[in-house]
Amino acid sequence: MAVKRTPFIAGNWKMNLDHLQAIAFVQKLAWALADAKHDFADAEVAVFPPFTDLRSVQTLVSADSLPIAYGAQDVSAHDSGAYTGEISGAFLAQLDCRYVIIGHSERRTLHHETDADVNAKVLAAHRHGLVPVVCVGETADDLEAHGPSAVPVAQLRAALEGVDGSKGLVVAYEPVWAIGSGQAATPAQAEQVCSALRALIAELLGDEVASATRILYGGSVKAANIASFLREPNVDGALVGGASLDIDEFSSIVRFKKHVGA
Ligand code: PEP
Repeated sequence: MAVKRTPFIAGNWKMNLDHLQAIAFVQKLAWALADAKHDFADAEVAVFPPFTDLRSVQTLVSADSLPIAYGAQDVSAHDSGAYTGEISGAFLAQLDCRYVIIGHSERRTLHHETDADVNAKVLAAHRHGLVPVVCVGETADDLEAHGPSAVPVAQLRAALEGVDGSKGLVVAYEPVWAIGSGQAATPAQAEQVCSALRALIAELLGDEVASATRILYGGSVKAANIASFLREPNVDGALVGGASLDIDEFSSIVRFKKHVGA
């Protein structure tokens, strides 16, 4: 039986906004959504601030009971020990993070994270009750050499090795050539890859998990194009970078249903 998937709009702040700016931002975002009478059944909202902001965001969200989820942008594959500079999933769980982004293309490229690293981090997230937002996507060269789906599907296959599907999963398809470039994929391109990713989840984790898993598109999403992606049957939301730092633009993306009548 098909499961209804609540659309998910996730803002990846990357290395922007310190903890004071984070407090102001999340408070204003909550006000903007409340003023607009956003129905969170139409779209769940999450922000992914830098590590140093998480305690402040937790305090605000908990004190004001804000309906905004949050998570980290990365997690260590290890639980504790001599890993200078790394952050354990246990610490993120203590801060009530619900999600953690794993395998973002900037981590894969700038920090040379491999598919095996991504898999180890997904397993670590699950050990601590966090839902991984697993990012996959092809470069422009991959696209030319292998077509759109081969690389994201291979990355997801590796990321899900040994994973228990009952522990929660979000997948973000982010073509590397579309991230921060202003050149988004077309909705049809996004649908083609997201549908291949869902078929892979069904093969590896079963139909029930596949039908419950939210698959996001990411790459130059803005208020003007979000609705066209959400009309596709296998696209369940967006991972938003640059546009997530502008409250009006981000809240407009979150309210995609209302402002374009989708
Ligand atoms: C991202 O970094 O995950 C991203 C999708 O960025 P942007 O929306 O700026 O393309």
